[in-house]
Amino acid sequence: MLAGVRATAAEGTTFTVHNPATGEVVAVVAEAGQEDVDRAVAAARRAQDAWALCGPSDRGAVLARLADLIEAEAEALALLETTDNGLPVAETRGMAAGAAAILRYYAGAADKLLGQTMPNDAGGLLLTLREPLGVAALITAWNAPLVLAALKAAPALVAGNAVLIKPSELAPRTTLRFAELAHAAGVPAGCLSVLTGGGAVGAALVRHPDVAKVSFTGSTSTGIAIAREAAATLKRVTLELGGKSAAVVFEDADLERIGEVAPGAAFGMAGQDCCARSRLLVQRSVYDEVLERYVARTNRLIVGDPLDPATDIGPLISAAHRDRVDACVREGVAEGAIVLTGGAPPAHLDGSAGWYAPTVLDGVHPGMRVAREELFGPVVSVLPFTDEDEAVRLANATPYGLSGSIWTRDVGRAVRVSRRIRSGVLAVNSNTSVYLQAPFGGTKLSGLGREYGLAALEENTELKTLFLAGTA
Ligand code: NAD
Repeated sequence: MLAGVRATAAEGTTFTVHNPATGEVVAVVAEAGQEDVDRAVAAARRAQDAWALCGPSDRGAVLARLADLIEAEAEALALLETTDNGLPVAETRGMAAGAAAILRYYAGAADKLLGQTMPNDAGGLLLTLREPLGVAALITAWNAPLVLAALKAAPALVAGNAVLIKPSELAPRTTLRFAELAHAAGVPAGCLSVLTGGGAVGAALVRHPDVAKVSFTGSTSTGIAIAREAAATLKRVTLELGGKSAAVVFEDADLERIGEVAPGAAFGMAGQDCCARSRLLVQRSVYDEVLERYVARTNRLIVGDPLDPATDIGPLISAAHRDRVDACVREGVAEGAIVLTGGAPPAHLDGSAGWYAPTVLDGVHPGMRVAREELFGPVVSVLPFTDEDEAVRLANATPYGLSGSIWTRDVGRAVRVSRRIRSGVLAVNSNTSVYLQAPFGGTKLSGLGREYGLAALEENTELKTLFLAGTA
């Protein structure tokens, strides 16, 4: 899509998008090729200079208008996202509202890209400027396409860059609509284009010498491939990757509340959430009680039609992905894990779609795949611990370091443990560690760089140092 207009691919190729709940084809979309990538990058380069030179408040006003347009169309966008990726409307409605909030936040940041002045012995003015990078390629995952488009495009655009968005081939339609609304809001032609297609389109963007930055959200393996490729042209890279985050429950925590809310952090988005608390670490003295409450609440979650507002868990993105999740669970069981609930597709739902019952596994050992790897499905592995040291050791015993929760009423313990867990974000007595105003990102194999907050502006600008002599 160039200049807000949907176009066919130069080579005329297309691909189909399927509704994960019904299997039906919901769209036939252009599959971009090298020629389309080259044209979009060239258009972005041509448009970027003028966009960077217009006043910051003008750029901010465009983003604020886009926020209004998204809000006005929130219900339609939520339904579009649900039929693309199978997430319940209760969740996609929240995401549409979240996308508008992101745009509004960065609209207000347009004139807050501050530089510094430095004292110097040369008798002149020494200062820094934050300048746009140029053209940014934004490559996104299927689990939250609209939010990810807003989250990556807003700080890039407001800082004066042009952007090319490559949504996942599994769920591209809300990104296409986002681009149409962006142009209606006043983003100039060329400054925001969408290139649809598979990994090859993303790879072509990463290779392109005129792309200055890649912001990627997706799996760790793809992120590593992108970092390797981007190194050849020294592109700036932001990588938001996978996770295997833990909810750590101490004996002094509010166990009743944990039973009620903690499953939501594991099974929201059917576990297809980078921040999912897919491990539950529980102090031995309260292990049985916590498990009993946790499983009871899990059993009340409604698995079913994602278009029904009462549904908590829709189908996974595909039956093939569900089968991968199921195979990992079976492998864990073969190694000694015990299924406390779930562990199979729900009997009342069509097995040809990707439904999977929320699953709690006991008897898990830290070395098992279900304890270490991201399954990206509704599966929680529970492990006991004795003391703080063991809790920290287990929490850190994965290659990832994205998010997590610590549940305790002891402030000293909360401080000690949160400082020792290696993750980009963390919450105490809460499921939520992603806030619009605060930096978000991963350590270890969970990523590189930060999004959200003012940190995202820094990731979308280059720092220039300028010296003005005191004599002409
Ligand atoms: P994926 O890596 O398969 O694909 C992500 C995107 O990259 C898609 O648009 C895909 O077409 C593209 N792509 C694939 N190969 C490429 C290549 N070689 N070069 C350039 N682009 C390429 O990931 P997915 O299955 O879409 O998403 C699930 C993953 O995303 C999970 O691991 C999840 O944890 C992660 N995720 C992370 C965050 C975060 O903020 N940390 C948020 C959401 C999802």
